Amino acid sequence: MRLGSAEALLEEMVSLARAGGALDLRLARLIAWFKRQDLAPLGYSSLPTFCRERVGWGGTWQRQLVRLVESDLKLVKRAVFHGLPMTVAILAPGRVEPNEQATWLMAALRGEVRPPRSKRAAAVPKVVIHGRLARQVHAARDLARLVVGWPLSVRGADAFVLGSWRQQRPGEEILAEARETPAPPDHEPVPAWGGPDPATALVGPWREPVDLEDGLRLLEEVQRARRERKLRLGCLYARVARKGLHQEMGFDTLAEMAREGLGCSVRTLERHRKLAEQLEANPVVGRAVEEGLDLNRAQLVLKTSQPETTADWVEVAQRTGVLELQRATRMAARGLEEEVLATYKWAMAQTTNTVALRAVQEPAPAPAVMAVHPDLPQAAEWFVETVRPEPQKGFGKVKERDRFVCQNPECGRRSLRAHAHHLVFRSEGGSDDETNGVAVCSGCHLRLAHTGLVSVRREGDAVVWTYPGGRSVTVFDVPRRFR
Ligand SMILES: [Zn+2]
Repeated sequence: MRLGSAEALLEEMVSLARAGGALDLRLARLIAWFKRQDLAPLGYSSLPTFCRERVGWGGTWQRQLVRLVESDLKLVKRAVFHGLPMTVAILAPGRVEPNEQATWLMAALRGEVRPPRSKRAAAVPKVVIHGRLARQVHAARDLARLVVGWPLSVRGADAFVLGSWRQQRPGEEILAEARETPAPPDHEPVPAWGGPDPATALVGPWREPVDLEDGLRLLEEVQRARRERKLRLGCLYARVARKGLHQEMGFDTLAEMAREGLGCSVRTLERHRKLAEQLEANPVVGRAVEEGLDLNRAQLVLKTSQPETTADWVEVAQRTGVLELQRATRMAARGLEEEVLATYKWAMAQTTNTVALRAVQEPAPAPAVMAVHPDLPQAAEWFVETVRPEPQKGFGKVKERDRFVCQNPECGRRSLRAHAHHLVFRSEGGSDDETNGVAVCSGCHLRLAHTGLVSVRREGDAVVWTYPGGRSVTVFDVPRRFR
């Protein structure tokens, strides 16, 4: 290859790499806009639910980016447009004063600002437990998640259990806090920021959406641009790596090209390359992506399927929401792929709606062996002894049956604040029998089901959720063998 074309290649890669941060910021800016809207008319009771189904960004990453967008850190945001890695930029909000951002940026550009080192490195040595102790720690984590009412990571759940134990907090106090309704968020307007935005070249200049529909259109546009950018960059990088073109570009190694030339890590490029190559090697998935299957679902399919089951998984992905597909692939990863696929096939044959299964919300079994903080076994024992949610009475038993998990197939939030919802309202002759109820989180109950924006009704053994805009999800009660 001539030097000229290696240069052209590098130039295109540089502009694609730059566009990454700009597109992420554009997406975060849109999410910050959605955060300030009532999402119930779209059928979502919360921003995380909306983002999971429509954006596919992980909770922490999304929150950090939105925090950066909402901050006054104009210079930091602009530095992202000029190649400051996003992983560094998101460290600034909340830690850097706007009048100190220039100094902070200088340090960041010298490489002196690093993400906080993984806590794991500094952690005390762990102990290995199994049997009863492992089951108890598992139960304590489950209970911690229930009372916090948020999908805590393992580390988060352990911190909550350890913290409660160290302070010897009374169980009643922990439970009272769990039942409290959080204050509604207080949204400041998003500060405007000027300056050229490289995302403009790909998705046009920034503008506020006119309404929710318009917002969804813009969201779609940005996501398409992000997808195309990722795959194109992956392809170009693959070509460079295959032919060793980085040397013609003046870099000794691929890592050096990534770092010095593109301002990103070689790991990111490898990830893009792997995805682009996988899509090429799996034409069924590749075609589905071209036809509109989002990359998150596509990646779940690629991770889970065997060559002979790929087509089946694509079908499942096209007929399920993101949350549901995540659950399905988790079940498959437990060695149940054949059964999972058979059950979804059965469900998909019953309806033309999107499908979901009730039983996949069952808790994961306790791992046989785990390595944990040395205090955790004792703290876990104390925690499950101390924090005892009182047994539900009457119609409230519906909540226990559903493990306090919101049965809205797009929500799945688990919280002690869950409500028991009548499928046939009492005013319409519905009974207080458990078969007439589902557990729903307070948001889905008050903002969706009771405003009539979302209808929930029983059809035989299934429960059908119909959302604004006409999308419907049928939730099947699956055969016992599957549980
Ligand atoms: Zn819910």
